[in-house]
Amino acid sequence: MSSASSCCCRASSLSASARRRSAALSRSKDSTVPKLAFCAGAKPTSLTTTTTTTSYSSSFSRRGGRGSAVLRKCDYNVAKRNKNAIITRAHNANDATATATGTGGGHHLTSKEELLKGQTKTPIKGNTGILEDLEDYVASKTKNRNVYVETYGCQMNANDSEVMMSVLNDNGFTETKDIHDANVILINTCAIRDKAEAKIWQRLAYFRSLGKPKKKAERPVVGVLGCMAERLKTQLLEADQLADIVAGPDAYRDLPNLIDTVQNTGSKSMNVQLSVEETYADVIPVRPDGTHSAFVTIMRGCDNCCTFCIVPYTRGQERSRDLASILYEVRVLSEQGVKEVTLLGQNVNSYYVDTNKSEDFLSSLKEGNIVGNNSIEAILNINNAREELNMKNAAGLAGEDPTKFNGYAAGFQSRYDAGRKREGKVQFAELLDRVAQIDPEMRIRFTSPHPKDFPDDVLNVIRDRPNVCKCLHMPAQSGSTATLERMRRGYSREAYLDLVKHVKEVIPDCAITTDIISGFCGETENDHKDTVSLMNIVGYEQAFMFAYSEREGTAAARHLEDDVPEDVKQNRLAEVIEAFRTQAQKKQEEEIGSVHCVLIEGPSKKNDDEWTGKTDSSKWVVFDNTKKYGEYNGGDEDEGDAKHALKAGDYIAVQVTGCSTGTLFGKCLGKTTLMAFQAIHGSQRVAPKNFAAAAR
Ligand code: SAM
Ligand code: SF4
Repeated sequence: MSSASSCCCRASSLSASARRRSAALSRSKDSTVPKLAFCAGAKPTSLTTTTTTTSYSSSFSRRGGRGSAVLRKCDYNVAKRNKNAIITRAHNANDATATATGTGGGHHLTSKEELLKGQTKTPIKGNTGILEDLEDYVASKTKNRNVYVETYGCQMNANDSEVMMSVLNDNGFTETKDIHDANVILINTCAIRDKAEAKIWQRLAYFRSLGKPKKKAERPVVGVLGCMAERLKTQLLEADQLADIVAGPDAYRDLPNLIDTVQNTGSKSMNVQLSVEETYADVIPVRPDGTHSAFVTIMRGCDNCCTFCIVPYTRGQERSRDLASILYEVRVLSEQGVKEVTLLGQNVNSYYVDTNKSEDFLSSLKEGNIVGNNSIEAILNINNAREELNMKNAAGLAGEDPTKFNGYAAGFQSRYDAGRKREGKVQFAELLDRVAQIDPEMRIRFTSPHPKDFPDDVLNVIRDRPNVCKCLHMPAQSGSTATLERMRRGYSREAYLDLVKHVKEVIPDCAITTDIISGFCGETENDHKDTVSLMNIVGYEQAFMFAYSEREGTAAARHLEDDVPEDVKQNRLAEVIEAFRTQAQKKQEEEIGSVHCVLIEGPSKKNDDEWTGKTDSSKWVVFDNTKKYGEYNGGDEDEGDAKHALKAGDYIAVQVTGCSTGTLFGKCLGKTTLMAFQAIHGSQRVAPKNFAAAAR
């Protein structure tokens, strides 16, 4: 074990009382500071490590595993060239050869270490002396701590920003919504398409312009985080000089240290290490107050390597988050009144995990070492978490032996041996089932899945748990087998269509959504027609459609020619969108007269007298918010005693009276609950009877 991690283990076992007392000092995370004190007391090694990162890892010593132990050669060379760049080492306490600092090598003391080293004349023993150090330490941390965050890209990025803010809050930073008030500006980025990146370049230029009139030391520190940071690394720091910090998606724990480095030394700092183990399992994201919809990331990275996709390069290898930590977080959300949880992952349904890891999380929980946990400590305790973990899969929906790998959906393959990895582990079907059992009034969704990972055990859980939404995202990418082969997707058009048919048989009312790429390398007019015909056959409820954007470093960029001219790509994309819209409009019209259990999201943006909400199938519904309603009894009219004023987070029965392509319009039939609606109708949607649509 490295000196850093053993040091932190000691600290965590001694920290309980100091933590309680230091909590009164500041919002600065109680468990962090005492640990730093002990880190400072430990003998420095000759390694370049960042104490901020290791300070969180007392119970997660395997986090800095194999994959994170290699400083990429290119980064090392850049560090040698650029004397001002300090490349910090987030997860590598064992790799002495990879040290790279622009300030002379050896053990680079972070600002916190320096601070504590200066103050701590004698090594700290036990708890004595900690509080005095803490007071000075906390006092020194009250300046330059306003952080402005902007997030681009997918829901995972949104959730990553919440994780990042939790880590920063724990280190005394506060979020500001006013960019002019910020000492630190962070932009969480997406690299999936060129367009996404173009917007970020524009924003970076604007951020830089904000600092221009000020002295260098007073200018806000600008940090680029996430996928684009991982992809472009030093270009952002060096050539373009638009950022002071570059941090990849596995480096959020290191952010306080990276910021300190820039603020205290004026040097630029970077951590783009990808980890094979980082899942932020012990970080409770900062969510907006009163939220009733939340994201919970359950896995990260991707092992599939579709030829067009940058994700495996920017997000690293697939790794799943510990089961107990997921169940714990969902339980916390349920206690806080959250009504909808979306499980997230780049390949969310590839989830598998060895439950032995849960012991790490549970002991971390016992010691109070959960980042961002302050507000919920009172609600939950270790016993709840253990109970949840040990809970029997009550109805056995995930199969008799849920740890048996049941293969992919019929006709689907992958480039890796999933059986070897997943056999004997908790897999997605069981996870979904366990999560669904936590609170039957909480809707569960998940994204983004790969269609190969929809074997029957997963479909059965979706069918049989009323609170798992009957809405499947099945990214097709193309309707042409030849294109799918070039994309290395692992299925043919026929296998995909068979799976759609099978899903509809198992879950008859299931809405299906998709992602499509138009104009991929080598796509012919016939390939394109196959995609248009796929859109017409399936009739997707929602679709995310893109023109192919070549991404440097992907297999397609290296081996295939981006040979479909831009105007052809755009025309084809327009035709695909048109096919989608035509089918979606038909589907919307078929909804008229149907009754849905709707979760109220909030007031409509266009009209204060209307609510917006979402059906189980993820369709937007707009309806009146001026009245009170009685309990829904299954009838067509609101015959209740009209005593309930509605609010965001309530379930309401809504009958659809009209539609546009993207929105349903309806009238309220009464207040309900997810279980009550299910008990009356046996599902979350009632098909239309004879119904005359209202003009809209
Ligand atoms: N894991 C999911 C799957 O297997 O389909 C998809 C997740 S991916 C992060 C999100 C979507 O971005 C993809 O489904 C694809 O449609 C789109 N995408 C990815 N790379 C792209 C590229 N180079 N050009 C255009 N769209 C792309
Ligand atoms: Fe990208 Fe999804 Fe393919 Fe992974 S499975 S490489 S995330 S498209």
